[in-house]
Amino acid sequence: MKTISILGATGSVGTQALTVIANNPDHFRLGSISIGTNTARLEEILEIFTPALVSVGNDADRSRLAAKYPHIEFTFGPGGLLEVARDDSDLLLTAIMGSVGLEPTLAAIESGKDIALANKETLVAAGEIVMAKAKEKNVSIIPVDSEHSAIFQCLRGENRSEMKRIILTASGGSFRDLSRSELSDVTLERALDHPNWSMGRKITIDSATMMNKGLEVIEAKWLFDAEVDQISTILHRESTIHSMVEFVDNSIMAQMGTPDMKTVIQFAFSHPERLPTNQQLDLDALSQLNFRPMDLERFRMLALAYDAIRTGGTMPAVMNAANEYAVNRFLNGELSFLEIEEIVESRMQSHDPVKNPDLDTILYYDRLYKSDMR
Ligand code: NAD
Ligand code: MG
Repeated sequence: MKTISILGATGSVGTQALTVIANNPDHFRLGSISIGTNTARLEEILEIFTPALVSVGNDADRSRLAAKYPHIEFTFGPGGLLEVARDDSDLLLTAIMGSVGLEPTLAAIESGKDIALANKETLVAAGEIVMAKAKEKNVSIIPVDSEHSAIFQCLRGENRSEMKRIILTASGGSFRDLSRSELSDVTLERALDHPNWSMGRKITIDSATMMNKGLEVIEAKWLFDAEVDQISTILHRESTIHSMVEFVDNSIMAQMGTPDMKTVIQFAFSHPERLPTNQQLDLDALSQLNFRPMDLERFRMLALAYDAIRTGGTMPAVMNAANEYAVNRFLNGELSFLEIEEIVESRMQSHDPVKNPDLDTILYYDRLYKSDMR
């Protein structure tokens, strides 16, 4: 029996994780959870689960909920996230959105807890620091991203020195069939309509801009200790092959499945074992698998992400922060779609990267480049 705590329990990944826990009561038990502001969804969760500790976004929600649920302990704010991260569960699922997940993830690693990592922004901002801390504390970081779970599975039992190349597949997002000139007047509503996956709003926009694949290139570098030149991307519109690894003998291993995060989440929870699921891939119904080379001129954000990780230092953190800022404004209807990448690119150009940054330096630039900056 594993006790699992969740940062971001009301989100897309968090909600599916709770389903996985509910489906496997003999294997998993819920520990603590954190949420942002969705207290209505939290109250639905509390009808089914009794978490040891619940962290909410603000003190007003904390006191109202503490009065209504006297048998549950509540906390709030950034300190609350750290309390959940440091609880006595076996595994922490980081299903919170954005670099706000960085400090609680480090706190959980510091406390010796294994991490099921969905919150890719943390590795983008501070991959070197996070992976070094995990190594020092002998903590496992198990990916909860379909591509990285696929790579992780392809590498199980393999000799890492025989890995030649990681091939991340990309569905292409909502606008994969549009040219660059057709992107100038696309709407928020269309951007939020992903062809294959149902996900939170920010990652759905990141998929449409292809920044999601850029974040995933950086995530893969840190998770699998790969050189940037060993990580390639390919368009694969069916999202059936979740990703691939090519070895020195040119053998390619692929992991396939339905586009359903519950399988990915459950594998991270049950690892190193596997448990049954209901999401079976119907191979008879699969008529074809398509592949297309990635066009870095068309998908400018992916080129920016490669630039950021090659530059290194604080640049990936700055790129991530600028992207969080711009996507948030796009979601608020304040920017056009192409202005997202204009902001990310101009903020990256304005930044003079700091080499080998410590955590405080990363947090400083994260806050700065996520702000209006004037
Ligand atoms: P989401 O927006 O649906 O949920 C985010 C969760 O984080 C919510 O519970 C929200 O309340 C909480 N949260 C957000 N900001 C917060 C803050 N400042 N303080 C406290 N809580 C806060 O997002 P999601 O789609 O579930 O994605 C979560 C993470 O998982 C992201 O890093 C995303 O890139 C990654 N991911 C998601 C998917 C997917 O299928 N949705 C797949 C792979 C990776
Ligand atoms: Mg992914």
